[in-house]
Amino acid sequence: MTTEQTHAQSNAEMRDKLTQQLRDRGLRLTPQREKILEVFFNLPEGDHLSAEELHQRLKSHHLDISLATSYRTLKLLVSVGALRELDFSEDHKHYELSRNPEAPHHHIICSGCGKTEEFESPEVLQLAVNLLREKRYKLTDVQLKLYGLCQDCCDDEPD
Ligand SMILES: [Zn+2]
Ligand SMILES: [Zn+2]
Repeated sequence: MTTEQTHAQSNAEMRDKLTQQLRDRGLRLTPQREKILEVFFNLPEGDHLSAEELHQRLKSHHLDISLATSYRTLKLLVSVGALRELDFSEDHKHYELSRNPEAPHHHIICSGCGKTEEFESPEVLQLAVNLLREKRYKLTDVQLKLYGLCQDCCDDEPD
């Protein structure tokens, strides 16, 4: 897991930027949207939530936001670039704050226990930038997923 967050934005900066991004699209930072973002702001670095997990968390804070609204808000926040949508497993998507869009991080996923780790790679970013420039695309995100078996899961394997 990388701890390098030198260029990452503070929560206050992110909130300002986000309010502006929403406003640019004629959307408001409603109390519901703000509460959902708050959950992500308070999430430890490297943690990701599915819509169901988000809904559970809101419930445990006695916030009455339905699962359907949670889904809709997550999609909306992805579309304005506030959250990243991650596809770790076939059954549900996970979400995280888009903290550092200039240096998107990648994920290693254990196919045994599902645990995830994050890493950054300037090489991968450069490759993506070059490829998309060739094809005349504007880069909006890079996500590399590596699947493997973590040490714990390897230890469990009978040999
Ligand atoms: Zn991540
Ligand atoms: Zn594992």
